[in-house]
Formats: sequence, structure tokens, C-alpha cells
Amino acid sequence: MDAAAGSCNACGATGTALMELSLGKDFFGRAYDRLSPSSDQSPKWYCESCSMQKNLQRDFRDIRAELDKLTAGQASELSKTDTFQRAALRLREIAAIIGSTSSQSPFLAAPDVAQLIERFQTTTMQA
Ligand SMILES: [Zn+2]
Repeated sequence: MDAAAGSCNACGATGTALMELSLGKDFFGRAYDRLSPSSDQSPKWYCESCSMQKNLQRDFRDIRAELDKLTAGQASELSKTDTFQRAALRLREIAAIIGSTSSQSPFLAAPDVAQLIERFQTTTMQA
């Protein structure tokens, strides 16, 4: 796909710099392309604002998946205390960024983030 002639895959913006998001490291430092085969099979092009939002979604999804494992009693990145705290902080940061943008994120719903933060708090209390 020709980036210069394309449009943002999320908001449809054209004539702006587009970034390809498909590879890289995830929040836990793992290679990203192995992680979300079902939802991100093909590279997509996003404008700057959407690629930022996409990164938030990526972190959110990874953190949620690890929390699911943790609460199911499986091996999880979040079983390390410092990683758990870092993830909890990141979630608050994500919530703050989403809350500060005027338009609805194309990738993440604020209530979903709030719910995950709540789950983190519940998990902390059980620990
Ligand atoms: Zn966009």
C-alpha cells in the first residue's frame, strides 16, 4: 500500500503522515506481531493521532489478557509485583488520555478501561 496516497485506516484522514503499525514490542517487551494474530493480521496505516490511540489499545489488550491469566491462576507477566504496578499505572494513564480527548476513541471505550482498572484494584485487595 502506498502510504502517501492512502488514508488512515481508523478515521479516514488523508493528506497526512501515516504510520504503519504491525510490528514492534508490546507493553511487556514481547514481540507484538505474535500476540494478536486474530485481530491484527495485516499491517494497517494510521495517522499520528490514531496510531497513538492504537498503541493505547494495544497496551490495554495485552494488560487485560495478562490479568485474565493471573485471575485464572495461570502464569502471567502480572505475577511480578513491579510489572503489576507498572500495568496499573499505565491503565490510569490510558484512562486519562482517553478522558482528555474530545472525540471518542476509534479503538477503546472509556468504560472498558474503567472496568479493567476496577479489576486491578480488586486483584490488589486479594493479594
Ligand atoms: Zn486517523
